[in-house]
Amino acid sequence: MRAARFVGAGKPLEVTDLPDPVPGEGEILVEIAACGICHTDLSFTDHGIPTMKEPPLVLGHEISGRVKELGPGAAGFAVGDPVLLPAVYGCGECRYCRSGRENLCKNMVFFGSSRDGGFAELVTAPAAKVLPLPAAIPLEAACVIADAVSTPYHAVKNRGRVREGDKVLVIGCGGIGINIVQCAAAAGGEVLAVDLRPSAREAARSLGAAHVLDPSGVERLDKTVKGILAGGADVAFEAIGRKDTIEAAFSCLAKGGRLCVVGYCAEKVTLAAAKIMFFEQEVVGSLGCPTAEYRPLIEEVAAGRIRVEPLVTSRVSLEEINEGFDRLRRGEGIRNIVVMH
Ligand SMILES: [Zn+2]
Ligand SMILES: [Zn+2]
Repeated sequence: MRAARFVGAGKPLEVTDLPDPVPGEGEILVEIAACGICHTDLSFTDHGIPTMKEPPLVLGHEISGRVKELGPGAAGFAVGDPVLLPAVYGCGECRYCRSGRENLCKNMVFFGSSRDGGFAELVTAPAAKVLPLPAAIPLEAACVIADAVSTPYHAVKNRGRVREGDKVLVIGCGGIGINIVQCAAAAGGEVLAVDLRPSAREAARSLGAAHVLDPSGVERLDKTVKGILAGGADVAFEAIGRKDTIEAAFSCLAKGGRLCVVGYCAEKVTLAAAKIMFFEQEVVGSLGCPTAEYRPLIEEVAAGRIRVEPLVTSRVSLEEINEGFDRLRRGEGIRNIVVMH
């Protein structure tokens, strides 16, 4: 098969021929249609974050395709079925997996980090973790459901628990934030999207934000937000990963409001404990998406309530993959995907 191989940080991906993978016990072989390029891939290639398995390795964890072959003991699919692979999956046995929090698994398996991923023509995956895709969803664009949409979906539905009529603040409308906007609007929230970039604010509007705000000219974000959202946010999402924006998001909460931290921030932040107590406010985090939550998400995409086509702003072939990575480095578009044929 043709594949783009990661050979080490700071080097371009090597597009080359590799032996076809063989599905093991309970696994299926998937002929890949498309694979999204994510900031996590850049963290391996550019920022020296180590992959869980030593390179050489095929990166890519937003994978859609068709079943090509069933390995021994694999069931539940027929050759040719359209499928989506979850970006990560759990062992099914640890205390987190057993309590339905597979995204916190101690033995997490991550496509394109702990095993070969989707920047290739073929990949193998355990049949039990593979998700069927309805014909209503375009197969190539469907790849972005894994991670780019599933991470926001989990944050909105399970961690932020956005309900019909909630006032929702989203700070940062990059690849994750823009889909928090979309999923929160689909859940019936009145969404205020905050981003410095006009293109991001425009995308947020088109994906369901009722209000958008450029924070650059704003003196007190909390006052402005409480004006627009009449009293403040019931749920505020921070999707950048900065101390100042996490603190700002918390300051915009209404009484009883909930801050959901989705951006990764290594710094310590300062939040007023008195407000958490006196206003019954909550602070939660959100990481990835348990495989079980992909199923209702796929239904929402099939029903057109959550859209994937507008998220795919550029497509490259496998041979052009390094150009696709460059587009992400330059911050172009919402999602760049690699299409195999
Ligand atoms: Zn990703
Ligand atoms: Zn587990």
